[in-house]
Amino acid sequence: MSDCLFCKIAAGEIPSDKVFEDDCVLVFRDISPQAPTHLLAIHRKHYAAVHDIPPEEVATLMGRLTAALCISLRRVGLDKSGYRLVVNSGEIAGQTVPHLHIHVLGGRELAWPPG
Ligand code: AMP
Ligand code: ZN
Repeated sequence: MSDCLFCKIAAGEIPSDKVFEDDCVLVFRDISPQAPTHLLAIHRKHYAAVHDIPPEEVATLMGRLTAALCISLRRVGLDKSGYRLVVNSGEIAGQTVPHLHIHVLGGRELAWPPG
């Protein structure tokens, strides 16, 4: 999608601090971290939310994203200390970038429920 911030990051048109990338997904540091470690995991292909992924692509795309998360969590050391994964979908959940992304938050106590 030409006018999407995360599509531009995936295409390398906007710089990002990458932790992991392959042909399908990208994991990079959030520019405005809400925790000492705050990563974002995205697909290169544009979908606004999980429910927008065609059913026949869900297993592959979410599998690839989860695999990238596993590698990234180990790279930044959160596999040892714990973390939270968050997906905001739609305005009601506070989604500001309409390109599906998983937030990874760690490095501090994370309150529950999140509010
Ligand atoms: P959300 O509010 O769930 O849509 O999350 C969007 C996230 O993207 C926010 O945490 C922003 O800080 C982050 N963000 C916005 N622009 C950039 C950027 N250029 N590089 C990295 N993260 C960004
Ligand atoms: Zn996009």
